[in-house]
Amino acid sequence: TMRESYASENDSGFKCLKPDLRPIVVVGGHGQLGSLFCRLFELSGYQVRKLGSQDWDRADELLDDAGMVVVSVPINLTETIIAKLGNLPEDCILADLTSVKSGPVQAMLEVHRGPVVGLHPMFGPDIASLAKQVVAYCDGRNPESYQWLLEQIQIWGATLNRISAIEHDEGMTLIQALRHFTSFVYGLHLAEEDPKLEQLLSLSSPIYRLELAMVGRLFAQDAQLYADIIMSSPQNLAMIKRFHQRFGEAIVMLDNQDKETFKQAFGRVENWFGDYAQHFLIESQGLLRQANDSTHR
Ligand code: NAD
Repeated sequence: TMRESYASENDSGFKCLKPDLRPIVVVGGHGQLGSLFCRLFELSGYQVRKLGSQDWDRADELLDDAGMVVVSVPINLTETIIAKLGNLPEDCILADLTSVKSGPVQAMLEVHRGPVVGLHPMFGPDIASLAKQVVAYCDGRNPESYQWLLEQIQIWGATLNRISAIEHDEGMTLIQALRHFTSFVYGLHLAEEDPKLEQLLSLSSPIYRLELAMVGRLFAQDAQLYADIIMSSPQNLAMIKRFHQRFGEAIVMLDNQDKETFKQAFGRVENWFGDYAQHFLIESQGLLRQANDSTHR
């Protein structure tokens, strides 16, 4: 299978596309995502150094001959930390892995005169391989000097998606901020209602179990990360408030027992999804079959 072939490739390492690159310094390299990327770089034959929160007194020494610096620190510290990277060699590539892109890419362009690229891996540190995962990237400066990096990421199995920082952050308002926030509120609601989780699961169809898993997995992760993502922009808050307003409008239908309006609204959404509604029905059936197989293993 795909997973097995990548796992075995991991054991033997990956092809190195830039063997003459000077050391890669990962700022925040001891963190979750930082250490994943350190491992991938090392498995690909690069020399990797980690610059952790206690290492700034020897930062000059670590950064002096860097061929690439990758920033992977908590979101709320990212721009302050990028601002400390003003003394990199001019040909050094400056990159980051932050979940938001406008602020960090702007900060990198301001502090460094050489090549700059913003990356956003659309996955957490818990994945088994990069196969089928997406990495969004924003060109910053001198793209010709980091094409090898983009190709290296593809060798690890990921698909690249080029996007402007602004469009990225707009998309993330829906894909991340709103979605994580609704999961957060749903979790909060469950905790307050305090049903017996085991009983709920034993009554659940596979799709509800999957939904519950989607919500529950959030709370196995880092609260600070999600607070930072959700509160990273005023657009996020505006979007969440519009959602809240629609929620309220929809409840009016319920109060009025207004099934006609409900059905009309349902039809509008069905229209909006178009052919995707049918595709998603079939796709989710496939996913559920897989989920079912793995829970009965
Ligand atoms: P993390 O907290 O696990 O790692 C951050 C690391 O930065 C820690 O090791 C911390 O000690 C270190 N650090 C803190 N202050 C520092 C300083 N002044 N100098 C150097 N290092 C410092 O967080 P994470 O989940 O790995 O997230 C890191 C970045 O990756 C964030 O920008 C986040 O948006 C992005 N990201 C995370 C995920 C995810 O699911 N975890 C997914 C996509 C992108």
